Amino acid sequence: MTDQPVLLVTGGSRGIGAAICLAAARKGWRVAVNYAANQAAADAVVSQIVAGGGEAFAIKGDVGNAADIVAMFEAVDERFGRLDGLANNAGIVDAQARVDEMSVERIERMMRINITGSILCAAEAVRRMSTRHGGKGGAIVNISSMAAIIGSPSQYVDYAASKAAIDTFTIGLAREVATEGVRVNAVRPGVIDTEIHASGGLPDRARDLAPSIPMQRAGTAEEIADAVLYLLSSEASYITGSILNVSGGR
Ligand code: NAP
Repeated sequence: MTDQPVLLVTGGSRGIGAAICLAAARKGWRVAVNYAANQAAADAVVSQIVAGGGEAFAIKGDVGNAADIVAMFEAVDERFGRLDGLANNAGIVDAQARVDEMSVERIERMMRINITGSILCAAEAVRRMSTRHGGKGGAIVNISSMAAIIGSPSQYVDYAASKAAIDTFTIGLAREVATEGVRVNAVRPGVIDTEIHASGGLPDRARDLAPSIPMQRAGTAEEIADAVLYLLSSEASYITGSILNVSGGR
């Protein structure tokens, strides 16, 4: 039985989540790589980790579906028999729209995946890691967004509101489990060069917004992963309920 810690990364197949998986494996975590649909991308992350001498496996599961979330954590139990960290990363945007143009279906999907999914994943993690439940402690890092501060007018205010909910959830859960060995923090990425912008219909968004960022460039997924790995690590042992902007000054 190895004592290497275990990290579950939701949305670990691409973008920021994939960078978190790879950085975690380099730091000695065993990694559960969740994905929604893109098995090839998840398998590629797993292969890269295994090629580097690490241990990882891919788990299909939609964080917008409560039964999938339960099954995903049970798969981690079965494979690794422990859980030490959760990177609550899976999230979506949608097409650019004004609030008065948004359908109820769009808004409900956004909130189900970005908010309800993150809360349910954190709850499953707390059930395993909290000393109240017989666990040995652990850390959760939620992925918020600078959109929570900026509001993203005329782009996706629904998305921004979902990330503001993640900020508040981070503070509340951190205080709720502070004496139970579980630290809960969040990272607010700024504009990061991933495929999420194309999924919202703006493939050049990261490049187009660069001049508006104080550092004059988009960030990389690896730069977000470094912040997440720090918050997951024992170097952040007195940090809980914190939300770290990683946004090039935006
Ligand atoms: P991305 O490149 O679009 O990757 C999204 C990842 O999430 C993929 O692995 C995808 O899986 C997975 N995913 C999507 N919906 C899912 C669902 N319902 N259940 C499980 N997994 C799901 O996105 P990203 O840019 O890396 O964003 C990651 C997080 O950072 C999100 O929470 C996002 O809001 C946040 N963020 C991003 C930026 C940015 O500029 N990129 C800025 C601020 C915050 P498949 O591969 O199977 O599709």
